[in-house]
Amino acid sequence: MNDALRTRFVDIVGARNAAVTDDDVAPHLREWRGRWTGRAAAVLRPGATAEVARILELANRTGTAIVPQGGNTGLVGGQIPDGSGDAVIVSTARLDRIREIDTQADAITVEAGVVLAAIHDATEAHDRLFPLSLAAQGSCQIGGNLSTNAGGTGALAYGVARDQCLGLEVVLPDGSVLDGLSKLKKDNTGYDLRDLFIGAEGTLGIITAATLRLYPRPRGKAAAFLAVGSPEDALALFRRARAVAGTALTAYELMARMGVAFTLRHMPGMRDPLARAYPWYVLLEISSGRSLDDARALLDSIAETGFEHGLVLDGAIAESEAQRLALWQLREAMSESQIPEGGSIKHDISVPVSALPAFMAEAEKAILAIVPEARLCPFGHLGDGNLHYNVSQPVGWDRQAFLDLTDRITPVVYGLVRAHGGSISAEHGIGQMKRQELAATKSPVALDLMRRIKAAFDPNAIMNPGKVL
Ligand code: FAD
Ligand code: ZN
Repeated sequence: MNDALRTRFVDIVGARNAAVTDDDVAPHLREWRGRWTGRAAAVLRPGATAEVARILELANRTGTAIVPQGGNTGLVGGQIPDGSGDAVIVSTARLDRIREIDTQADAITVEAGVVLAAIHDATEAHDRLFPLSLAAQGSCQIGGNLSTNAGGTGALAYGVARDQCLGLEVVLPDGSVLDGLSKLKKDNTGYDLRDLFIGAEGTLGIITAATLRLYPRPRGKAAAFLAVGSPEDALALFRRARAVAGTALTAYELMARMGVAFTLRHMPGMRDPLARAYPWYVLLEISSGRSLDDARALLDSIAETGFEHGLVLDGAIAESEAQRLALWQLREAMSESQIPEGGSIKHDISVPVSALPAFMAEAEKAILAIVPEARLCPFGHLGDGNLHYNVSQPVGWDRQAFLDLTDRITPVVYGLVRAHGGSISAEHGIGQMKRQELAATKSPVALDLMRRIKAAFDPNAIMNPGKVL
């Protein structure tokens, strides 16, 4: 990019809110694991929707690639530019105002750069719940959450990011602003434009603000860490728990022993809640609108039924809030604790819940046929049929030698996912990581429609080129 054009971009936000030197731009060019890196002509931090509009209008006229970036926690490289050095990164960090909390309508309107945890704090202060919850919530931003249609642990009872969104304000590639900040639950006035931007990963426009749905804040939360013998038993227990608790069952997470062992080994201060090891565990949480006692009573009755039917082998029920949080730490450390164990081949997949045990049995068999000593660490949102199907390298192997087997292991996993009617990206999106797989697995009719939507919204293809499609 020539200096004159760069200066025109910088002038829109002011030099104080732009980064152009290598050192200042660098943190935006790399995701936290260093898996994707890129280059950029500048990073702009607009402070208002009108500034975003001017940036996109200039980019559209000059054919400049725009890469939206929120908290930079995305796991598929969508927020990282390519290596050309011509793209402008638009960081939403300064769009960080909470515009309104309406407790009568149970709605909050926030700008795209508000960090997810800050939304939790703000809504709790008004005795409301915003249920989207993920391990990255201290740094990811709501614009990124909506653009990736994030899932997380609350999806079981409350749904994914899309389900939390009532309305959006979006800047389109030509600089016009789509003002759709509606609080309406019901609005059937033609095509749902809002839903197109959710999960679009920044390829159709820049989300600058959102109106989100709020819920009553639970009065009590109870959690248990239960040992089960197999994914089948975990699923059978899930059905019983769901039947007893309904939507009060707000989390149901599965963990393989291997992952729990990694966490106990590497994360300081973690303790095994149970006296001996078991092959599988579930973390089950009940939220009650009435009281903590009510939540605990429901949880006790689920655990009891589980024991009676031979589904639960052993278990620990959190006796205090500190213990409940400690159980969650075990689950949330699952990704990080795999890092010191060497290379990990990761898959974020979903299949119909009923197909999960069969998928897991077949995947295990097929992977062990390729690498007999591979260490399987599947974990995740069993209640949603969504697993982080991670495979760690055998002890003593060379990391790269193992990662080189991705080309053999991943197609096998995706093949089984397809055979069971599942998805190759349950919650992290496509980004640059799964573009080829999307092209290979989505139906030609769907792909063609997606390309035509992209061309209609962004005819000059300036929005996040090289991502998704
Ligand atoms: P970024 O990473 O900055 O961007 C993500 C994508 O959205 C990019 O394509 C970017 O271009 C686009 N984008 C960002 N902001 C905008 C905007 N305002 N307008 C248009 N496009 C935009 N995900 C889950 O779904 N469930 C989980 O449980 C989960 N757990 C995680 C745990 C950890 C430890 C980490 C690191 C990540 C996890 N994620 C999870 C990944 C998840 O996708 C991101 O954490 C989050 O949703 C992305 O938000 P962000 O602000 O960091 O977006
Ligand atoms: Zn997840």
